[in-house]
Amino acid sequence: MPSMQNTFLPLCRPALNDADIDAVVAVLRSGWITTGAKNAQLEQMICQLTGATEAVALSSATAGMHLALLALGIGPGDEVITPSLTWVSTINMITLVGATPVFVDVDPDTLMTTAEQIAPLVTPKTRLIIPVHFAGASLDLDPIYALAERHGIAVIEDAAHALGAQYKGQPVGYRGHCIFSLHAIKNVTTAEGGLFVTSDQALADRIRRLKFHGLAVDAFDRETHGRAPQAEVVEPGFKYNLPDISAVLALGQLERLDAITAARQALADDYIEKLRAIPGITPLQDPVHEHRHCRHLMVVRVAPERAGLDRQQLIEALKAVQIGAGIHFMPAHLQKYYRDHYTARYARDMPSLPHTTLAGGQICSLPLFPAMTLGDIDRVIDALNTIVNQHEK
Ligand SMILES: *Cc1c(COP(=O)(O)O)cnc(C)c1O
Repeated sequence: MPSMQNTFLPLCRPALNDADIDAVVAVLRSGWITTGAKNAQLEQMICQLTGATEAVALSSATAGMHLALLALGIGPGDEVITPSLTWVSTINMITLVGATPVFVDVDPDTLMTTAEQIAPLVTPKTRLIIPVHFAGASLDLDPIYALAERHGIAVIEDAAHALGAQYKGQPVGYRGHCIFSLHAIKNVTTAEGGLFVTSDQALADRIRRLKFHGLAVDAFDRETHGRAPQAEVVEPGFKYNLPDISAVLALGQLERLDAITAARQALADDYIEKLRAIPGITPLQDPVHEHRHCRHLMVVRVAPERAGLDRQQLIEALKAVQIGAGIHFMPAHLQKYYRDHYTARYARDMPSLPHTTLAGGQICSLPLFPAMTLGDIDRVIDALNTIVNQHEK
């Protein structure tokens, strides 16, 4: 038997079982492998879960963000307020549609942005706010929606981390427009995939059209060609649909979502308890508003003056004992393109983002996935203790 210390403990592992794998095989054998009945089932389950009336399955959350920006008419001259501490795909999509990303700082305890931080950044050019539910916690949505309504600004919630999370007793996704990711690291996965969720039927229909070449059947066709006319291009669209061999993977996970979330919660509770004894390695704080956390990531902050080593050294030291770790995220404003081109490209100064910049150098995600055992957590905690003891001054 290999000793436990020689087995790699990854940052994450998808929560897939044999029935999920059999379901993919059944789709493969069915003769219909791309977008079809399994997509429809996935969309229906997401509507049931979130309480939204419309869900569109897509090839990724990034694709959903791209189409949502286009469908909301965001383009050159428009400003979009979003944190720099997010996955860069959002900033890339804002840039690629020709709009200006305006970076908002985050709360130092939860690493989520607040209405108070967003308010001073609103200008007459602001068209959209994209706040991020971070690590599985939920944003304080009420003040953000109140601010947006006051100024007539749209909101797209980035809920890539938040499938199964709740805000004040309501599932994330129940209000406004929301994007979920089904990427391999996320709590529910189709390897690659995403969802756009809304209760605005016209917006959802536009996104459905844009995700598949801009094909639709218009009312004229329906009347003149009878019941099943051939769809034709009504506006140029993309190829962002999700195949059924992927979509089917999510169905079982969604049925098990409460169990998946509960398993993550139990592991996170154990981590949080045991991390108390380790100097300089501190979990994020949970939001103070009523919420249900879905424990997507176990993010800790490494304070070098207390731990005796910095985040990068910690990740290296964990790797040396076969423990995976990650960074969620390297702030967008510190990445090469945005660092080098921000002022020239958007004709405004890079905002100072003290909490984002500090956190960006300190955050580290520890292994967390439902199949982990409490023994695995002890292994991580023991490794952290040993590493910090070796470095502590
Ligand atoms: C994963 C992620 C995305 C993008 O999801 P994809 O499905 O990979 O496109 C967007 N935002 C955040 C915060 C994410 O973590």
